[in-house]
Amino acid sequence: MIDPKLGNLFMMSKVSKSPSVFLDRDGVLNKDIGYVHKPSQINWIPGAKEAVALLKNQGYLVFVVTNQSGIARGLYTEDEVEYLHAWMNTELLKSGGSSIDDFRYSPYHPAFENETYANFKNWRKPGPGMILDIIEKWPVDNLKSFLIGDRQSDIKAAEAANITGFLFNGGDLLTFVEAILASR
Ligand SMILES: [Mg+2]
Repeated sequence: MIDPKLGNLFMMSKVSKSPSVFLDRDGVLNKDIGYVHKPSQINWIPGAKEAVALLKNQGYLVFVVTNQSGIARGLYTEDEVEYLHAWMNTELLKSGGSSIDDFRYSPYHPAFENETYANFKNWRKPGPGMILDIIEKWPVDNLKSFLIGDRQSDIKAAEAANITGFLFNGGDLLTFVEAILASR
């Protein structure tokens, strides 16, 4: 016998899961000029801010998952990356009233092994660690979620986390996202 109360709880927990989008950062939200780590280096991809606003308006949780080996390489610090992400969210809020729900970055790089970042080995795409960490902490509906990245390593990370991946080859991100939403 199914306890009706438990049944209701089960229904509620199912209903509260949200479709979610995982965005690579460099090459998807901003131009990838290599080791971007401060606001003056952010050149937004056309349609990027509008794409985030559209996804939020459609009820998606929106996350960024970004490899930042520049940290392991000693080129910049975690604080700088976190400051940059907060700044990006301020800019998004100003333009469309929406922002990224959460950011994950992987400081790790295999050529710069050190104990500080060893735990983040699986976070480095094509590893799924960043996506899985978000799925653990947020109510992500895997089946209704997808990732957008500009490299095969992004797509592989998505597949390893059981998320559909879409390869963005540049152009206008809003147009790209609209096409994905229309196909789902
Ligand atoms: Mg990229």
